[in-house]
Amino acid sequence: MKRGRVTLVGAGPGDPDLLTIKAARAIAGADVILCDALVDDGVLAHARPGARVVAVGKRGGCASTSQAFIHQLMVREARAGRDVVRLKGGDPFVFGRGGEEREALERAGIAVDAIPGVTSGLAAPAAIGIPVTHRALSHGVALVTGHAAPGGEAPDWRALAASGLTLVIYMGMATAGSLRRQLLDAGLERTTPVAVIANATRDAQDAVAATLDDFVERCAARGIASPAIIVVGDVAAYARVAPDARDQVSAR
Ligand code: SAH
Repeated sequence: MKRGRVTLVGAGPGDPDLLTIKAARAIAGADVILCDALVDDGVLAHARPGARVVAVGKRGGCASTSQAFIHQLMVREARAGRDVVRLKGGDPFVFGRGGEEREALERAGIAVDAIPGVTSGLAAPAAIGIPVTHRALSHGVALVTGHAAPGGEAPDWRALAASGLTLVIYMGMATAGSLRRQLLDAGLERTTPVAVIANATRDAQDAVAATLDDFVERCAARGIASPAIIVVGDVAAYARVAPDARDQVSAR
């Protein structure tokens, strides 16, 4: 019998054209595709007609398939000799639980590969013209979660604020108010430029350019909510947004 395998595939941030050629080939070759909620239909269009597509969606707060069930399903399908693609938004190893899934598969003796994807934390700032590093403004970038795992440790905001790195915050909208408090307490100025990009690279993309002081209210006023990326740091002043989505303080 053919030996099955699992490939963890990054689907990119939204726009199906941001899929890698390698990812498209893996999707086209799959017998079974286990797919997250954030994956665009245009990405699934690469699947061959007979492929089985299983939505194992996760979307903040909504009822979602348990991680244990996803592991079991992948193991079962691979043991049955099938080519399984585990398709995830962005990159599978950036806040995508790819590490956990890889471990579970290896423990079960299943061959596993990974294909990287364009992560939303880099695609979203790029979509509105923000360079996350800049020779004059920022020597690096930190990809950080705004939503610690239950019982897990929160990021060390003080160390991050002191680092001078551009902060790219995933999953931060639900707790944006407390995030602002922590960043101010950590020593960042109220005038620090902040850009928030929702649904980056999709038709529904929208963004605001604001400051640490007012980004929460400006997002609320414009209806900007999850999924969104929050960019904090001087480079955020490069945001190119609609005129009414720009804060006067950060305008260049
Ligand atoms: N593995 C994914 C991240 C999954 S965590 C990646 O590499 O992109 C989910 C978070 O990603 C969301 O809460 C949001 O912060 C961000 N996100 C995913 N897609 C996005 C998009 N198109 N626009 C803005 N943020 C997005």
